Amino acid sequence: MSTKAFAAFSATEPLRDHTITRREPGAHDVEIEILYCGVCHSDIHQVRNEWHNAMYPMVPGHEIVGRITRVGAHVKKFKAGDLAGVGCLVDSCRECDACKKDLEQFCPTSVGTYNAKERDGKTITYGGYSTSIVVDEAFTLKVSDKLPLDAVAPLLCAGITTYSPLRHWKVSKGQKVGILGLGGLGHMGVKFASSFGAEVTMLSHSASKEADARRLGAHHFALCSDPAVMKSLAGTFDFILDTVSAPHDYNAYLGLLAVDGKMVCVGAPPEPAQVAAFNLIFGRKTLAGSLIGGIAETQEMLDYCAEHSIVSDIELIPIQQINEAYDRILKSDVKYRFVIDMQSLK
Ligand code: NAP
Ligand code: ZN
Ligand code: ZN
Repeated sequence: MSTKAFAAFSATEPLRDHTITRREPGAHDVEIEILYCGVCHSDIHQVRNEWHNAMYPMVPGHEIVGRITRVGAHVKKFKAGDLAGVGCLVDSCRECDACKKDLEQFCPTSVGTYNAKERDGKTITYGGYSTSIVVDEAFTLKVSDKLPLDAVAPLLCAGITTYSPLRHWKVSKGQKVGILGLGGLGHMGVKFASSFGAEVTMLSHSASKEADARRLGAHHFALCSDPAVMKSLAGTFDFILDTVSAPHDYNAYLGLLAVDGKMVCVGAPPEPAQVAAFNLIFGRKTLAGSLIGGIAETQEMLDYCAEHSIVSDIELIPIQQINEAYDRILKSDVKYRFVIDMQSLK
């Protein structure tokens, strides 16, 4: 089926109109009319080939929400008219250890929603900057009608990417938690960590974001570019979630951890960084990473958000403004997630 989309044709050109082909829904597939799609910093890393994995033309977008228009003969979870979401994954082997543990994101042959190859090894996947998508129901999430749908879209990546490590490392009441970087991921991290009862400090290099950080649920705000502030916080955090997209000095933030403290990287700057062993040895500290979350946990997160009225703070844009939105994200000027209104593409 011929489908309208917006695509990148190289690492240096602006995104523009494109037409792609979607498959006819198979027995286990659903077809979704895309209503909104969030804009993740990973879209920019990939469009600009910063992760050295770009396949063009590339249709980005992995924070997809919409309405089911058709279902295959064996689909059980959905019917036409239901709301649905799709995140960063559209398939996996379903047999390996990771898949059996509901950790499809770590399946060696999992399939990304865009800029990836289907399991046939040939077909390129196209993401949510388009008017419709066809996905196996096993990788399609149920979305509540209680929340504003446009503000739900970013939960499919920014939401699960922050929810999953906070749950895995059992962040809860009585803990001092730092969220590093107040962008799309960071603002969801603040919301979840404070909702889980932790004492949350926003660690940001943008002084102008202090009032917003507090409104989002942070108890404290710390300007990391101020050496006196960094010194005053040395050895104080049980857990730091690092969402920063650009190269930065991990050692400086390891210094903020208490004994047995953990710092988890979700931000994915392309360049490798140096970490001094001594900064982990003294204080028995842990430096770890985390990748989105499995499908079951993504559903758990969406249900938690519906129950606790948690959504993203968004700026809704027509798709024709996507290139300006990318420029603003790169200037740390996003409040706090751009979401594309897909009516603008129809
Ligand atoms: P974003 O909205 O651009 O937010 C990143 C924030 O990092 C900025 O708002 C800024 O916050 C801070 N920052 C940017 N440049 C900085 C610099 N030079 N020094 C210090 N801080 C800086 O990006 P996002 O969509 O949240 O994504 C963040 C990162 O996570 C990206 O690398 C993305 O690819 C990655 N990601 C990873 C996963 C995963 O599964 N692990 C999933 C999604 C995204 P302040 O102004 O507050 O300092
Ligand atoms: Zn993402
Ligand atoms: Zn697998």
